[in-house]
Amino acid sequence: MSNTLSPEMVEVVKSTLPFLRENGLKLTEHFYRRMFVGNPEVRAFFNQANQENSSQQRALAAAICAFAEHLETPEALASAVSLIANKHASLGVAPEHYPIVGEHLLGAIDDLLAPAPKPVLDAWAQAYGALVSILTSKEGEIYAAQETAPGGWKGFRQMEVIERKRESECITSFHLRAQDGGRLLRFAPGQYLTVRVPTLEHDSDDPNVARTTMRNYSLSGSPDWDHYRISVKREAPGHADTPEGYVSNYLHSGVGVGDALEIGPPCGDFVLEEHESRTPILLLSGGVGLTPMLSMLHSIQSNPVTFLHGAIDGRNHALREEVLKLAAEKYNARVHFRYSVPTAEDERDQHHHSSGLFTSEFLSQFLSRDTAVYFCGPKPMMRHVHQTLQALKHPPELTRFEFFGPQQELEA
Ligand code: FAD
Repeated sequence: MSNTLSPEMVEVVKSTLPFLRENGLKLTEHFYRRMFVGNPEVRAFFNQANQENSSQQRALAAAICAFAEHLETPEALASAVSLIANKHASLGVAPEHYPIVGEHLLGAIDDLLAPAPKPVLDAWAQAYGALVSILTSKEGEIYAAQETAPGGWKGFRQMEVIERKRESECITSFHLRAQDGGRLLRFAPGQYLTVRVPTLEHDSDDPNVARTTMRNYSLSGSPDWDHYRISVKREAPGHADTPEGYVSNYLHSGVGVGDALEIGPPCGDFVLEEHESRTPILLLSGGVGLTPMLSMLHSIQSNPVTFLHGAIDGRNHALREEVLKLAAEKYNARVHFRYSVPTAEDERDQHHHSSGLFTSEFLSQFLSRDTAVYFCGPKPMMRHVHQTLQALKHPPELTRFEFFGPQQELEA
């Protein structure tokens, strides 16, 4: 980025950092409002629940600050750029969308500074342009790879649900095959699909409403299967006055064998890396965060692997038998199930190995200096695991995670 921005421009963008740190959320809230009014056609790209709870706005505010801070050291943003480009590719973001975002981002800065000095707007326009060229180039690479690889496709492909299986009280799996009968792009263990479904207002004439909405679901099966599998947790309402999760309930309540779904190609950079065969791997998950871990467990051949999974209790523990069977087939695999609130039945049947949360003391027994750690789960667990790994000085290059929502600072 710095090579396309003059030092003066960098200086001007950086001079806005104190303002951004103080007003980031205000800015992004205004930006989204402005954009949805001015360009309602982009609403379908955004999960409105993430808008309502402000997680999207907070994530964007943090990303803008990080971007301004690292203008001269773009390599520090490489993993963030990869994550964003993959998310964009999963949603079908195209080069023509960037001018819309740019217009409203600059407009929001101008509105908030009321008005912004011209050099500030010029510098931000240039900085944004540099970011756009990085993102569009990375997204172009992802789209090209998805389209040209065997079984690949562009945009959304009609898939048929060939099996539906209840995995726990709140998690159900959907097995998917292409309706055209064609082969499917091979995914990397850890990657996710995009499911696009009609909204409640899909037949409305109002140009301000989105007719479709999209969500990502990690692939929970093996890349060697001839079909895909996703495992979806039904999202209950958060509080009495909040609606239930839209897409998860759409799938749980209304989608069965023989039904069609629109599916975007596998995306994501949270994937099982190539490790030396002796490197121990810890696959650590909580709740529905087990989906990418299970796909990884399917794929690990010779490495010593521990599958450590936390669930509330046996009723909420999905895919238990599959994990045990897979581990038993492997030469060097260990499984540990930890329930936070085991039922009397769980205690009687010994369905779990321990009870409690993932405390630091508990986690440290699964870690050695060279353990490659992959983790995914609910936000409090993610935050705790992240902090524990930091406190234990576990090498950051051996730590990878996926968060099932707008990326947030786990330290925050
Ligand atoms: P949403 O409608 O998005 O609602 C989300 C939450 O917000 C709900 O709790 C809901 O009650 C609340 N809410 C909704 N509307 C409002 C409102 N107006 N005001 C306040 N609160 C509101 N999920 C899985 O189950 N399995 C997976 O394997 C999986 N993999 C993922 C992989 C990735 C990379 C990502 C990013 C996410 C993944 N997810 C996965 C999460 C999934 O994408 C969805 O976010 C999840 O299913 C919830 O979507 P929903 O439409 O049901 O809920």
